[in-house]
Amino acid sequence: MVDAEQRLWAPWRMRYIGGGATEDGCVFCNRLRAGNDVESLILLRGPNAFVIMNLFPYNTGHVMIVPNQHVADLADLPFEAAIDMTLLAPQVTGALRRVLSCAGFNLGLNIGDVAGAGVAAHLHQHVVPRWVGDANFMPILASTMVIPELIPTTYAKIRAELQREMTANATCRAIVLTDDDRSVVLQDGALPTATASEKQPVWKAALGAVQSVAGDLEIAGWAGSERADASAGPLALTLRAVKVTDAPGREVVGLTEALDRLDEREAVILRRARANLAPSIAAPDDRIGQVSSS
Ligand SMILES: [Zn+2]
Repeated sequence: MVDAEQRLWAPWRMRYIGGGATEDGCVFCNRLRAGNDVESLILLRGPNAFVIMNLFPYNTGHVMIVPNQHVADLADLPFEAAIDMTLLAPQVTGALRRVLSCAGFNLGLNIGDVAGAGVAAHLHQHVVPRWVGDANFMPILASTMVIPELIPTTYAKIRAELQREMTANATCRAIVLTDDDRSVVLQDGALPTATASEKQPVWKAALGAVQSVAGDLEIAGWAGSERADASAGPLALTLRAVKVTDAPGREVVGLTEALDRLDEREAVILRRARANLAPSIAAPDDRIGQVSSS
């Protein structure tokens, strides 16, 4: 028998178990103030509300829509924030549906400690994707769950899709790193690029574009801008290849050499790809382990 709170989510979750870390202030306000949205798992910043991943999800793709202002009760929620939260819901569910092929959602607010709000002082709306046969209705916490995907991977997929929703741009650069993260694949001297068709998620388009480049590929993380706001640059995903295949125009180039050869815009993306990988993988408990709300 497994413990009631145990979820099968190795290896990512293991980094957060037993941390017991505390954090001064509000976890949502702290992340909103912090500069690095990839590290904070913020998916989208709006003028009055933002979208953030739940690090202890009920299900894969569990995100929260949160007002920028620190309020505990609906009665105190500014009108503009209520509007933004309402308008974000269809965009978030639309993006999640495309990214994860989920069949439905649970959306809900837990207001106050008595209702089970993990961060009762700052209102937040849960959006939990559901699949047919994904076990129990909420509270799913009562049973063991398999979270089949690593947080940085899910983050990258959803972030790309939400940014596409906001900018109406579905063209994504694919940064294909070798297994040791020391080299990158260039196609005709540039980073491979893919454009998603209308119903295709960006991550699938990116994988498809480079599938001929390498046999076994995995999405390793988000390679675009740290900021998830209107200033966010182009869509970019980092992929990792176990083995790169030979083909015309294709080269495996060391990171330093690649940075020298790429134009300035692409070099920035490659630098970000590398920088974004590190904090997502090595985030200590006391920084993002506290986005644990219910
Ligand atoms: Zn707050």
